[in-house]
Amino acid sequence: MAGGNIGDRAVVLGAGMAGLLAARLLADSYRHVTLVDRDALPDTAQPRRAVPQGPHIHGLLGRGQQVLEELFPGFTRGMASLGVPVGDFGTSLSWYFSGQMIEPSETGLICVSATRPFLENWVRERVRALPGVTLLDRADIVGLTVSGDRVTGVRVQAHGAGGAERLLAADLVVDASGKSSRTPRWLRELRYPEVPEERVKIDLTYTTADFRGPLSIHLTGDRIGLVCVASPRSPRGATLVRTQDRYSLSLYGLLGDRPPTDPDGFLAFARSLPVPEIHAAVAGAQLLDPPVSMRFPANVRRRYERVDRLPEGLLVLGDAACTFNPIYAQGMTVAAIEALVLRDHLRRGHPPRPRAFFRDLAAVVDAPWDMAAGGDLGFPGVRGRRSVAVRMGNFYIPRLQAAAARDARLSAAFLRTAGLVDPPTALMRPNVVSRVLFARRRPGVSMSVQSGGR
Ligand SMILES: Cc1cc2nc3c(=O)[nH]c(=O)nc-3n(C[C@H](O)[C@H](O)[C@H](O)COP(=O)(O)OP(=O)(O)OC[C@H]3O[C@@H](n4cnc5c(N)ncnc54)[C@H](O)[C@@H]3O)c2cc1C
Repeated sequence: MAGGNIGDRAVVLGAGMAGLLAARLLADSYRHVTLVDRDALPDTAQPRRAVPQGPHIHGLLGRGQQVLEELFPGFTRGMASLGVPVGDFGTSLSWYFSGQMIEPSETGLICVSATRPFLENWVRERVRALPGVTLLDRADIVGLTVSGDRVTGVRVQAHGAGGAERLLAADLVVDASGKSSRTPRWLRELRYPEVPEERVKIDLTYTTADFRGPLSIHLTGDRIGLVCVASPRSPRGATLVRTQDRYSLSLYGLLGDRPPTDPDGFLAFARSLPVPEIHAAVAGAQLLDPPVSMRFPANVRRRYERVDRLPEGLLVLGDAACTFNPIYAQGMTVAAIEALVLRDHLRRGHPPRPRAFFRDLAAVVDAPWDMAAGGDLGFPGVRGRRSVAVRMGNFYIPRLQAAAARDARLSAAFLRTAGLVDPPTALMRPNVVSRVLFARRRPGVSMSVQSGGR
């Protein structure tokens, strides 16, 4: 039975992960929920034209898995039954920071290693089946309709057949149209104040290739992959994972360092990494398709909570509100956490009030933003203001990671915070700080860390 305790119609702009999760919750409170997307929305797991990041590895962090399990009970078991590798984040993945592996450790956090199209399709199938939910695909959202200080719907233009424009009336419009969201422009045109924006430019390039197994190193059983995180000492990074039907390797470089798309150049870049196992694993494996590349210019945060006049009936979430450097794998998990903020507001029994919603949204975005944008400021070539907190974080975290090379408790503490389950303050608890400060040297493990970088 569709919800309806709050309103009749909600419209969600964009049927990516953020839009799908928002629709899942809106369906509990609105009689009709329409998800509008410009893409053809397939009923199989295939990459979509309008989601160019789809072919690249999409890790779902620990908190993301927990939220998906809560919103779709049986999620983890269901994915495992379809062949998706599932394991503990601390033992099924090997984590390297500054070229040094941290000690494996049980974190209690579950890694569900699906490709982005596979995960999105699984969620989309379930949202499509909810009572009251309609997916309107191949339709561009071209503007908002407004009456007084209230958004009353959206204008959409169907693709093909003359592209007729139509109005979709709505009590609530949720913009989840991704990083190219036009809401700031629409608000400007409607004479609302400018939405302040923060940017940390990183000029990142991702290049990803898929391989048929088996690989020449052992990645079967519970082993899901290897993560080599870029740092100022070692500014190239990579993730190698096993998914439901392939092995994928994403290589990345920052500040204009671009992993090539020709197979030889791709392998040469892999060979340049501080973790030789990555190149060794794929060097003899069969490429499924030519490598694909994507550039990601900057972390961008739109500060809706700082706008003092906004129309009623309009919310923004997902990448449309904040995009993070993808090397931290936060985007989908933050979208899931933001969906819970939406749920909290819907549970108040009245239509969400934008200013209160954006205030709460900002509170949950702060920590991942500080980790991503703050971590990026550890790279000397990244421009931006380095506050005391940013400097402290970029001094302390590399030392914690170095100490975690022989301290499983530190590994678990770090991965729980990076997984957005525990807050960053958990890493400042006395029992953690003392383990970092009094870490003893072990042969072959360097505790000397250049300042900056995560
Ligand atoms: C290279 C790369 C790797 C990444 N890796 C990870 C990772 O490991 N883990 C992770 O959690 N996140 C990762 N991300 C981020 C992740 O892709 C996003 O944060 C996440 O998908 C949430 O996005 P969204 O739903 O807000 O937007 P999107 O997924 O971009 O979806 C937006 C939707 O809106 C539609 N749309 C846009 N404009 C219009 C319009 N005008 N009219 C109609 N429809 C419109 C689009 O068709 C699309 O379907 C990565 C990103 C990149 C670039």
